[in-house]
Amino acid sequence: MALIVQKYGGTSVGTVERIQAVARRVKATVEAGNSVVVVVSAMGKTTDGLVKLAADITNQPSRREMDMLLSTGEQVSIALLTMALHAQNQEAISLTGAQVGIVTEAEHTRARILKIKTDRLQRHLSEGKVIVVAGFQGISQTSDLEITTLGRGGSDTSAVALAAALGAEKCEIYTDVPGILTTDPRLVPEAQLMEEITSDEMLELASLGAKVLHPRAVEIARNYGVTLVVRSSWTDEPGTRVISPRPQPRPLEGLELAHPVDAVEFDTDQVKVALLRIPDRPGIAARLFGELATQALNVDLIIQSIHEGNTNDIAFTMVKANLARAEAVAAAIAPALRSNPTDTSQAEVMVDQRMAKISIAGAGMIGRPGVAAHMFSSLAAAGINIQLISTSEVKVSCTIDVEDCDRAIAVLCDAFEVTSSPMPQGSAPTASLRVPEVRGAALDLKQARVAIRHVPDRPGMAAKIFQLLATHGVSVDMIIQSQRCRLVNGQATRDIAFTVAQGDAQTAKAVVEAAAAELGFGDVAVDEEIAKVSVVGTGMIYAPGVAARMFKALSQQGINLQMIATSEIKISCVVAETEGVTALRAVHNAFGLAGLERTVVPA
Ligand code: ADP
Ligand code: ASP
Ligand code: MG
Repeated sequence: MALIVQKYGGTSVGTVERIQAVARRVKATVEAGNSVVVVVSAMGKTTDGLVKLAADITNQPSRREMDMLLSTGEQVSIALLTMALHAQNQEAISLTGAQVGIVTEAEHTRARILKIKTDRLQRHLSEGKVIVVAGFQGISQTSDLEITTLGRGGSDTSAVALAAALGAEKCEIYTDVPGILTTDPRLVPEAQLMEEITSDEMLELASLGAKVLHPRAVEIARNYGVTLVVRSSWTDEPGTRVISPRPQPRPLEGLELAHPVDAVEFDTDQVKVALLRIPDRPGIAARLFGELATQALNVDLIIQSIHEGNTNDIAFTMVKANLARAEAVAAAIAPALRSNPTDTSQAEVMVDQRMAKISIAGAGMIGRPGVAAHMFSSLAAAGINIQLISTSEVKVSCTIDVEDCDRAIAVLCDAFEVTSSPMPQGSAPTASLRVPEVRGAALDLKQARVAIRHVPDRPGMAAKIFQLLATHGVSVDMIIQSQRCRLVNGQATRDIAFTVAQGDAQTAKAVVEAAAAELGFGDVAVDEEIAKVSVVGTGMIYAPGVAARMFKALSQQGINLQMIATSEIKISCVVAETEGVTALRAVHNAFGLAGLERTVVPA
C-alpha cells in the first residue's frame, strides 16, 4: 500500500462544491489502494482577507498576532474537508500543524520547519484514516508552544516536508492550472504545459515569480528526493513532474534549517570583458551579445548595472579559451556604440584575465537577509576584494582575483559548513540528456530598486551594507556591483544597486542613507516602478546566444534594459514596470514557448 501526500490550494477548496470534489478525489485515491495525507490551504482568498482586516487596524501588527490570525484560515478548510469525507463514508481526521507536531523555529510569519513528528500520523494511518493537515502552520519548539506560520504560499512547503518525513511515495500538488506552464497563464494565455522540469530549474523559476510552487517546497523535494507532481484540481491529466537527482541521505532533524547554503561553487577558468560607457538605449546588449552568439562564443555571467548620465557598463565572463575572439568582437563594436562617434574618450573595452567566480547556492537563503551579508563579510575578513556581484534569490556569485580563489573557497566552506564543487562546465550533454535552452519565463512586478552611488572600492563595503540591511530585516534579491571604478576625491568607487520587495524599499533607503556619511557613499536612489523579467533553462549552460535572443526580443519592443544579472541557468533583466507584461510576452515568444492551446484559469 503506497502512501501519497496530496495538497490542495486555496482555489481548489474555495467553495463547498469544490471541497466536495476534493473529497471525492481523495476517496478515489484511497479506493485505489493508497494511504492518503491531505494538506489544505485556506479557502479562496481567505488569507488575503485576514491580512486586510489586520491592516485596517494597524500598519504594524505584531508578528505573533498575525500568525494567530492567519493560521485560522487553514483550520476552517481542514474541518470542512474532513466533514465532506465523512459524508462520503470515508474515515478521516483533521489535525492542525501543532497536533501533527510540525515543529518550527520561533520566527513568526516566516518560520522554517525543524522536524515533523510522525507517530500520531502513523497511528491514524494504521487505523485506515485519511489525515487532513492544516498547511502553512506549525508550532514552535519553545515551552510556550507558539503557533507559527511558514510565510505566504507555505502550504506547498508543509506538503513536501510531510512527504519527506513520512517517506511518501509521492507528493501531488493540486492547483487551479494544469501543472507548471512555460509562464504564468494569467499573463500569457498561450503558455504551454510542461511534462517535466528539473528541480534546479523550478527553484529558479519559483524564486523569480512563478508562484505555482513555493521555492522552499522545491528545495525540500530536491534535498530529500521527494517525487513531486503539480496537477490540476479540475481534471485527471497527469500534470508536471519535478525531477530531482537521487540525493545524498540526510537527517530529517533540522529539515529546513540544517544549511541555508547547499554548496560553494567556483570556477577559475574565467575571464571578464567589460564595455564601459556605452549608450543607455534599447538594442545595445542585443547587438553585443548577438555578435558574440554569431561567433558561437558562449558567455557565462552577464552584468549590467545602473547607469550614470546616459551611459552604461556591461561586463560578461566566459571561459579563457574564447577571450581573444570575444575581445575582438567587443573592440569592433565599441566605436559603433559611442553616443558621439568623434569622442574617443567614450566606449572602452576592458579585459581581466586573472579572475575567478565563486558562488554560494541554496534555497535556504530566501527570506534570510543575513546569508549574502555573511558571504561578503567572510570574504572581507580574509581581505578578499569583490569585483562583480550578481545574485538571484537562490545564488550569490562574486568575481574575485584568481589568486584569492583557494582562500575564498576555504573561508566560505567554513562559514557555511558545506563542501565545494567546480561549476558545471560548458561541454554539451549527450543527445539523450538534451535539455531545452529555455524552459520557462517569469515576471516579478513586486520589486523596487535601490541604487547607491560611489561606494569605496575596498574589501568589506558590500558586507557592511548588506549586514546593515539584514539587521533591519530587509531581504535583498538581486544585487549588482558595477564594473566601472570612478575616482571620487582621489578614491576608487563603484556603484551598487539591488532590488528588494517594494514594501521594504523606503526602509532600505533610510538604513543605507544613515550609514552614508560614515562609510563614504554618495546618493541613494529608489525606483519602485520596475519589473524583473527572467528566463530559466539548464540547456543555456551549453548554448551560445540565449542572452542575445532575449535582449533582441526586448529591443524589438523598444524596451530599455536597466539592469541585467545572470546565473548559469537564468537571465534576468530589470525593465520599466509599465513594460513588464509586454517584456514577458516578447521573451516567451522569442524562445518558441507559446503554443496554440490557451489556458483559462478559473476564478
Ligand atoms: P494555490 O492556491 O493552488 O497554491 P497559487 O495561486 O499559489 O495556487 O499558484 C497557482 C498560480 O500560479 C496559477 O493560477 C498561475 O496564475 C500562477 N503561475 C505563475 N507562474 C506559473 C507557471 N509557470 N505555471 C503555472 N502557473 C503559474
Ligand atoms: N493560505 C496561505 C496563503 O494564502 C498559505 C497557502 O495557501 O499556501 O499564503
Ligand atoms: Mg500557492
